[in-house]
Amino acid sequence: MPKLTEKKKTSQKLPKEARNSLNKRQEEIKQLSKATEKKELIYLYNTLTRKKQPFKPIQKGKVGVYSCGPTVYDYAHIGNLRTYIFNDILKRVLAYNGYEVKHVMNITDVDDKIIKKVQEEKIFLQELTHKYETSFFNDSAELNIVTPDIKPRATEHIHEMAELIKKLLKKGYAYKTDDGIYYSISKFKKYGKLSNLKLKNLKATSRIEADTYEKEQANDFALWKFFQEKDGNISWNTEFGKGRPGWHIECSAMSMRYLGEHFDIHTGAVDLAFPHHENEIAQSEAATGKKFVNYWLHAGFLKLAEGKMSKSLGNIITLQILKDKNFEPLHYRYLCLTTHYRDELAFTFENLQNAKNSYNSIKNKIKEIKRNMDITGIRSQEVQKSKQEFLRVINNDLDMPKAIALLHAMLKNENLKNSEKYALLLDFDKVFGLQLDKEEKPITVPDEIKKIVEDREKSRKAGMWQVADSLREKLREKGYAVDDTEKGPEIRKV
Ligand code: AMP
Ligand code: ZN
Repeated sequence: MPKLTEKKKTSQKLPKEARNSLNKRQEEIKQLSKATEKKELIYLYNTLTRKKQPFKPIQKGKVGVYSCGPTVYDYAHIGNLRTYIFNDILKRVLAYNGYEVKHVMNITDVDDKIIKKVQEEKIFLQELTHKYETSFFNDSAELNIVTPDIKPRATEHIHEMAELIKKLLKKGYAYKTDDGIYYSISKFKKYGKLSNLKLKNLKATSRIEADTYEKEQANDFALWKFFQEKDGNISWNTEFGKGRPGWHIECSAMSMRYLGEHFDIHTGAVDLAFPHHENEIAQSEAATGKKFVNYWLHAGFLKLAEGKMSKSLGNIITLQILKDKNFEPLHYRYLCLTTHYRDELAFTFENLQNAKNSYNSIKNKIKEIKRNMDITGIRSQEVQKSKQEFLRVINNDLDMPKAIALLHAMLKNENLKNSEKYALLLDFDKVFGLQLDKEEKPITVPDEIKKIVEDREKSRKAGMWQVADSLREKLREKGYAVDDTEKGPEIRKV
């Protein structure tokens, strides 16, 4: 048994004291990991049942999640990005609970809005969509959003959509008209179950060609739109005619292609519950005869003080605009975490500034903790207790505002040692994704600021505390702060 001898040799080399301490540390690590091994139920608010329900996966230990992805005809705005931060938190909470998550998010790269813009700008479809798709994933990376495992583009799944439409035609749920193929909502008895619509209260008289519409307009919707001159060269040939897909069919086709006909969780913002998700259920369940999705999760909207963010009002805010105003993407992520995902988030630059201050104060506290790390081991029981509390909060429908409050309280808790705090914040950050321990990029400090810091040092050394304090204040006014460390003054931005 060569392995055993080798092991023995190494441990023999270590002095007894070191060996004991090593064993103790290993035991601590074991205890720590047990805390996450301990299964707790995750409660999620399900739009379908209008209740918070314990999450039960279809397959033990695994979760399939589908999220409606971006329509890539323009830059994403911070409202869109809030919804993708919510998706990310959901995935992280599931992973923290030990689930293996398979996440699929589509890219809508053909629809009414995209075609209109392609015509206006006289460019190829892909020229437009690839540009905004790249920009979307750059924003996501800056917000530390984990990339989905599969990112299917609609234009690359026309075959799957056509097959689904064929099934619906065959089963009598779809019918053909002069301008396209439509889904007959009166044939699907459960139509309206997600958005609580009663079909009999609707005048199901006409058809809707547009991809988006209001509840009052609930009517037969387009699965396939036959080719029209105004679509330019954007069309595909299928056995039921040349044309392009309606918007709703893409998500049914692509989610089932990658997650199966019945899967665990489907997400989107609240505006998608009707008609998009209602139509996805109708298409999928009519085609397969099976329940489509178990849990439907919808995120609240981000609003501005003046109301909706819209192009016509000229008030779209992008991540770039935040960066231009000296905010980091993670300040925005932090802000999103301070409001529950189902609540409306009223965005102002003032609350973003508060989020930035709070985020920076956590980072500074962490620096201080790291500078004063105790050398004795961590008490696993203390750590486990905090972890358990954290788990209970995040598993209660992803209560991030409470989890953030726990983080602040934990950092202030005088009963915890610095090494324990450090272990806990690294652990909590697996869920927050705020990169709390990431070293900041070195900043370029202007000479004027360096000079003030030098003068402050001289004043301190001469015991002129009042002068030193006023210089610290002067620095703050100019957007800098100084920490007095063992290695001397450290300058940072505020
Ligand atoms: P789109 O790129 O328009 O398809 O939208 C992408 C995602 O952002 C969808 O899930 C939308 O429901 C969501 N969304 C759009 N506007 C907002 C908003 N103001 N706040 C939160 N989510 C939004
Ligand atoms: Zn969708």
